[in-house]
Amino acid sequence: MKIDTNRIPLEGVALEEKISPAALDLETEMMKLRDPITVRADISKITNAITVNLTLEALMYANCSRCMSEFHFDFKENMRLNYQVDKSEPVIDLDPDIREEIILAYPIKPLCKTDCKGLCAKCGKNLNEGGCSCAIT
Ligand SMILES: [Zn+2]
Ligand SMILES: [Zn+2]
Repeated sequence: MKIDTNRIPLEGVALEEKISPAALDLETEMMKLRDPITVRADISKITNAITVNLTLEALMYANCSRCMSEFHFDFKENMRLNYQVDKSEPVIDLDPDIREEIILAYPIKPLCKTDCKGLCAKCGKNLNEGGCSCAIT
């Protein structure tokens, strides 16, 4: 998402854009975002200070760190970014900041659910799907 600082009206402006994960360079082995990220920006300008209130929404996919199964969850983040008007560079590209924010918010040890039972250490069965006979013996 790009903002032309010369074109922000006095009353501010709201933008909405869908950005593909590929455009943000967010397709890695670990991070799975298959659908576009919805970015909403409320932009205001007071003299030379630009304030952007961003809302990011995306459907994220991850592999549970306990049971290894894939699951998805709704990702939603609000943040505020501040910029200065630079006469020589009137267009601000928000994408690097958006990218960084998503990487920071991405869970390091994602869990499919808070009480995920994980895998049996002995037989490897997914214990969310029921017990295995290892526990009985
Ligand atoms: Zn799990
Ligand atoms: Zn077992």
